[in-house]
Amino acid sequence: MVIQTVNPATGELVRKFEALSSQQVDEHIQRSADAFRVYRRSSYAERAALLHAAADILDSECDDLAKIATLEMGKTFEAAKVEVRKCASGCRWYADHGAEMLADEPWPAEGPSVYTRYEPLGPILAVMPWNFPFWQVIRFAAPALMAGNTVLLKHASNVPQVALAIEDVLRRAGFAEGVFSTLLISAAAVEGIIADRRVRGVTLTGSEEAGRSVGAAAGRHIKPSVLELGGADPFIVMPSADLERAISAAITSRTMNNGQSCVNAKRFIVHADVVEDFVRRFSERMGALRVGDPMDSETDIGPLATGDAVQTLHRQVTGTIAAGAQVHTGGALLEREGYFYPPTVLTNIPNGSPGHLEEFFGPVALVWEAADVDDAIRIANDSPLGLGGSAWTTDPVEKQRFVDEVETGMMYINDFTASIPSVPFGGTKDSGYGRELARFGAQTFTNPKTVWLAQ
Ligand code: NAP
Repeated sequence: MVIQTVNPATGELVRKFEALSSQQVDEHIQRSADAFRVYRRSSYAERAALLHAAADILDSECDDLAKIATLEMGKTFEAAKVEVRKCASGCRWYADHGAEMLADEPWPAEGPSVYTRYEPLGPILAVMPWNFPFWQVIRFAAPALMAGNTVLLKHASNVPQVALAIEDVLRRAGFAEGVFSTLLISAAAVEGIIADRRVRGVTLTGSEEAGRSVGAAAGRHIKPSVLELGGADPFIVMPSADLERAISAAITSRTMNNGQSCVNAKRFIVHADVVEDFVRRFSERMGALRVGDPMDSETDIGPLATGDAVQTLHRQVTGTIAAGAQVHTGGALLEREGYFYPPTVLTNIPNGSPGHLEEFFGPVALVWEAADVDDAIRIANDSPLGLGGSAWTTDPVEKQRFVDEVETGMMYINDFTASIPSVPFGGTKDSGYGRELARFGAQTFTNPKTVWLAQ
């Protein structure tokens, strides 16, 4: 993809960037490897102070930073400000708790003193998506930097200004040159960087296709990898649920980030006793959401990130309708400039249709009717993806069954899935492997070295 800023609210090309040459990439990797040799010797207290400084800049420059995200990928300015503040709190959380998670871990042994030491690995490549352009980077980078690694960022090609802004914030916070570097490169350059002996690991947040490619390259070069891929998260509603609360959560969870979050609720699985009521009230409220200028604080849903995203989503919607699905609201392209898509609700999703098989990345809700709890679990698991999930019920037996039997990396009962610094995040099945955040985030890119000290 061309590295450029295109305003999705208007379709206007704002700025183009030149990709780095292979020699420039090589120089960046060398700077990262050189910086690592010094940075790895810094104390946790020194790294924590740098992360606190970064958090202070993120907070004090929140509006300016948020505007860049809105300009480049179309999320509402209100949502972008929340994202930047979340980055500040993520940096502070690892600054305050990282040392504890990375402390030497003793093991029982008769005689010698035995412990695990969590050593940093070196330069880690982060391949990141545009949808939470600040948070996806920081949720990996804050713990990785706390652990003593250096970071090479290959951000999505449509958010180059956010990528450069993150590097700038971290430099001004005091991280030395080379500790965090943004590489403006195409996806085609990723494999060569994974192969480079100086690079010691890779993390990717993005699509399944990119995951297969990055995971294969990491395997070929025996590098640790984390893959945070797509989701088709189930949102199950049972008769005992507080329906009004569940519907409000369903709307937030489906439309957050203009419907372009990996953990948006995407497949609504509703018990037959309440499905009619749910669909009527849910569709009315989805249809009433305001689609418009993402800088306007009254807007609920801004544009999708790219023109291609609108075309893909519309192909999926029309394909599902052509296969027999019923439209309750939305479903038709909007006649206006920019990459907007209307909130849409579809029911009667046919087997084999795009709604059954694919991730919908936009404000489109797909609703299934479930006969009972077994049927709800069957539908929830009838997907190759397994990122997050949410179930709404007050019945303790049902709660336990959803926790035990839904095949996801995260299961939320009477709440929707979110990404919070203190709580582990990640998926199973084709949604990827590895975990971010909490202590997993801090320890993933380390060498847990066994130390045996005999007298
Ligand atoms: P994408 O096309 O996979 O892009 C993500 C990143 O991967 C970009 O930097 C992209 O670079 C790069 N990339 C693409 N193809 C690649 C390849 N073959 N080899 C190496 N790098 C490659 O993803 P997207 O469609 O923009 O993002 C949406 C997807 O991300 C959705 O499926 C969503 O569910 C998933 N996601 C998952 C999580 C999670 O935590 N599990 C979070 C957010 C999003 P270019 O931009 O240059 O192509």
